[in-house]
Amino acid sequence: MTESQRREIERHLEDTLAALRVQAHMDSTGDLCCADENEFASRLSEMRLSVALQARVNVQIRETEEALRRLDVADFGTCRECGEDIPLQRLKANPTTTLCVHCRQERDNAPRHMGMPVAQAGLRA
Ligand SMILES: [Zn+2]
Repeated sequence: MTESQRREIERHLEDTLAALRVQAHMDSTGDLCCADENEFASRLSEMRLSVALQARVNVQIRETEEALRRLDVADFGTCRECGEDIPLQRLKANPTTTLCVHCRQERDNAPRHMGMPVAQAGLRA
């Protein structure tokens, strides 16, 4: 990976991180003074949804921070499995990836003994 490609990814990651941090700090609880029970119920389910979203945003923040740290080491952009370069397009679309498309697919097709949560697997796809 060239220096300018590295910078490009770095900028991209920093933008992503900034956007995620804005999301993470949005008020997820809101104001629970509602007109009636129905509204109260729907607000409650919105809150549950936003808690789930919040958790996902926090995971993405951690992964993006980790990717930024990895950017400084030599093996960034190199597949952890086969050692091939991960195409720049793939890195930009999914900077936290540590596998090339091929190894990712092999892993997805392999039976899962470790039981990675489906939601998390989806995030990395
Ligand atoms: Zn690979």
